[in-house]
Parts: sequence; C-alpha cells; structure tokens
Amino acid sequence: MAVHVGKKVAPIAVRSMPNKTEIIQINDIRVQLTWKSGVRMMRVRVLPPDGTVCATAPRWTSRKAVIGFLSERYDWMQKAIHKVQSRPQPVQLNYVEGEQVLLFGTPYTIHLKEVLPKETKHVSIEGDTITLHIKSGASREIREALLLAFYKERLSMVVSVYMKDYQSRLQCPEIPFRILRRKSVWGTFNPRKRSIVYNINLAQVPLECVQYVVLHEMTHQYISAHNADFYRKMAVFMPDWKERRTLLKQFGQKL
Ligand SMILES: [Zn+2]
Repeated sequence: MAVHVGKKVAPIAVRSMPNKTEIIQINDIRVQLTWKSGVRMMRVRVLPPDGTVCATAPRWTSRKAVIGFLSERYDWMQKAIHKVQSRPQPVQLNYVEGEQVLLFGTPYTIHLKEVLPKETKHVSIEGDTITLHIKSGASREIREALLLAFYKERLSMVVSVYMKDYQSRLQCPEIPFRILRRKSVWGTFNPRKRSIVYNINLAQVPLECVQYVVLHEMTHQYISAHNADFYRKMAVFMPDWKERRTLLKQFGQKL
C-alpha cells in the first residue's frame, strides 16, 4: 500500500480481537512479534533507523510455525539489519544561521531574520537562501515548526498539481490527501477511505520523485499489491518510474 523507505509494509489489520505482542529470539536477533486477527499471512520487516525487527502473524498460527518462518528468514533479517544500520543516520538539524536544508532536492542555506513588529513569522525564499523571519531567541522547536509549515505548503501545492494531472489522465474521481510526519513510508493509500497520506519529507526530494510517489499511491486504487500488473499500469504514465524510484531511495538515505 505504500512506498517504503525501507522494505515491505504489512497490511493494515482489521482488528476484531486485541493484538498480542511478544519478543521472540531467533539466534542473536530479537523479533518483536504481534499476533493479529485480521491478517492472513506472516510478515517480517526491518525498520529504520536502528534495524528493529517486527513481525506479524495471524492469531491462529502456532508458535512452532512462527519460529520456523522466522528461522528460514534469518539470513535475510541479518542482511536487512546490516543494510539499515549502515545507512548514514539522519542528521539532527538545528535550523540555525548557515545550516543547509533541502527543498525538492536543491540545497538552500538558512538565514534567520528578526520579524518586523506587526508582522507574523513567515518564510521567504530567494536565490539559494531560505529566510526564517522570526523573533530573535525563538526556540529550535519554533524554527523547526516554521520550516515544516513552509515545507507542507510547498509540498501540498506540488502534490495537488500532480494529482489533478493524473486524475484527469486516469479519469478517476478526486482523491483527498493529507501531509503528515512519517518515519518510514513516503506515502500510503487507504483503500477504505480512498485517501492518501504523504510524508512531509517529500518536500526535500527532487520533484520527479514526488511525482513518482503520487502516481504510485494513485495506482493503488486499482491494484493493491506491488505486482507486475501494478508496475505495468504505472509505466503507461511513467515509463522511467524505476529510475525515479532509485533516485528516491538515494534521497531516502540522506533524509
Ligand atoms: Zn505501494
């Protein structure tokens, strides 16, 4: 359902019984296992940034079957953990004078400027500088919130344009969307609500990658799995989707 920063996504479970979580040790790997009603298959994934291993299993699965399933995937889990942990870890930004930030793949330098009396705090962009017009002494949280609001506004504009374009080309009704902070997914299509959530960090990746995520999520309204049909349908409108996905993955590691 989603374009993932890391590996695959587990389907969203329709819960009729509360989930139960426990830790299962497979050699040296600690797996956080959740028994769920409403899922049909066992799944395992390795989450960034620290390589936490999470698995889900249908409630009726035996413990023996779960251990067998995870043991078979021990090598894969080990490799995936290594891959996630060897990525450059996200840099903690402080949103101070001279710091570099990205907007649609382009680096900009932050400049802080005292907001005028009677003016509300805002962001302006000129050349390769993003200026935060803010009260002197504003906290890191306030500076961050201001930049994120700016990201959200710009990303929302871009996504709206792409979505309108694909809505007319796919001849589908309008799909509502929201932009939120997300840890591991770039986007998610919710088939029940028929809506999309985009990761606010998309404001930092090149536009061709944003467009890829938009078409990817919109294609999920027809095909939920990432199968050959799914990518065939995408390729009709975006023959170079693979290159864009590769580029997005590179950026994913930088964010
Ligand atoms: Zn997807």
